[in-house]
Amino acid sequence: MKDELQRLSSVFEADIEKVTNLNELNDLRVNYLGKKSKLQEISNMMRDLSAEEKKECGKLMNELKTSIESKINSLKEELEKKELNSKLEKERIDVTLPATKINVGGVHPITKVINDVEELFISMGYDVLEGPEVEKDLYNFEMLNLPKGHPARDTQDSFYITEDTLLRKQTSPVQVRTMLGNKEKTPIRIICPGKTYRKDNDDATHSHEFHQIEGLVVDTNISMADLKGTLEIFAKKMFGENREIRFRPSHFPFTEPSIEVDVSCFNCGGKGCNICKGTGWIEILGAGMVHPNVLNMCGYDSDKFTGFAFGIGPERIAMLKYGINDIRNFYIDDLRFLKEFDKVEKVLK
Ligand SMILES: [Zn+2]
Repeated sequence: MKDELQRLSSVFEADIEKVTNLNELNDLRVNYLGKKSKLQEISNMMRDLSAEEKKECGKLMNELKTSIESKINSLKEELEKKELNSKLEKERIDVTLPATKINVGGVHPITKVINDVEELFISMGYDVLEGPEVEKDLYNFEMLNLPKGHPARDTQDSFYITEDTLLRKQTSPVQVRTMLGNKEKTPIRIICPGKTYRKDNDDATHSHEFHQIEGLVVDTNISMADLKGTLEIFAKKMFGENREIRFRPSHFPFTEPSIEVDVSCFNCGGKGCNICKGTGWIEILGAGMVHPNVLNMCGYDSDKFTGFAFGIGPERIAMLKYGINDIRNFYIDDLRFLKEFDKVEKVLK
């Protein structure tokens, strides 16, 4: 029996030497300490021994069992430490690897144009104001010198919500609201960017929803010369230092006189190309001197005050500036278009 224990001890020593990982160690534990282990077999055989032999063998067996247990436990600790270290080694962060690419959004071309225009006019002392997109008929038409029955008020052209409310056709109601709201009737210098709506059939140059930036200056002694100087600065800022502008007579109900403003072609410099259709000039906006009726209706004495107003289409500016040929591109949220625009923007810089 003693020999058996001795032999078992040396076989165990040899076996534990071969263990390289925790799984193998677990098998070894079952083999030597489990219910069907060799140690258990020997223990079963002890039943037949004399009391004295039992005592002696029992002691030896306990010693062997304790020694096997403690050797297994210490190897277990050692292997666990080793596994943790190799895991740490494997999962170590390599700070020299290139970083994961994060997609950053760009500024939409319309937003870009609006931001540029706002920046310019703020630098000239203008306030930037906004107003509701669902507007009273009174502010959208009537106060802008478009009385009931005026052809421009055709219900087929606008999105009416009730008889007296509609989606605003232009940002001009903000001008009306500002003039009415200015109780002291002090001078005004504002631009109003925002969304506007018309019942247009969408095509390459028309959209039922589009943007406008309107400008309004009301003060004493404001003349067409002030308007021209202001729009010249605008044209140079948006289309380049060498641009010139020209006025052509036009008609809007809320201005008198009214003008269309052209900028000299930024592509050919005025010689004539396909962008300016051979004329050397490109139409960019409408403007005029605020109609005395509008001033009076909004509480400004038109004998004392004069003013000018203009309306810029950010879509048109962006199409010209970045060579975009379909207005619908602005609204379809196609990333390919926006990425393309990003490239154009870099080239222009
Ligand atoms: Zn041209």
